Amino acid sequence: MPSCPQCGGQHPGLSPGDVLPPDTKVRRAIPAGKEGPPISKSVFDDVKMSVDLVARQPDETMATIGATKYIAFEVQEATQVFAKYLNQVVFRCVSGNPYHCQVEGKKTVGECKKFAAIMTPRLQP
Ligand SMILES: [Zn+2]
Repeated sequence: MPSCPQCGGQHPGLSPGDVLPPDTKVRRAIPAGKEGPPISKSVFDDVKMSVDLVARQPDETMATIGATKYIAFEVQEATQVFAKYLNQVVFRCVSGNPYHCQVEGKKTVGECKKFAAIMTPRLQP
């Protein structure tokens, strides 16, 4: 199978722009200083919030932003909380990272706070 021209990697069954199924598991690195508890709501307010498929090693996900903690969740947990503006989790591979996805859409402050509260007990490692 030829490498993807966009990321240089392999991602069988997924193409850039694909919306991920609800039960897909993803991971997000938590920036240093924002671990809380609770995790800062600002960690989740980006209209293109980066996450990685869990197939990527946690150390690699964290190294991208120099983080030492991460959380993992299912796509449907994000879409249920970030519902006002109908967020979707979309596969968006980037150079050197064939696991990269984004939780896309505007997020309210209340939604970010709620998501942070749900995710705080899951901080790893
Ligand atoms: Zn790719």
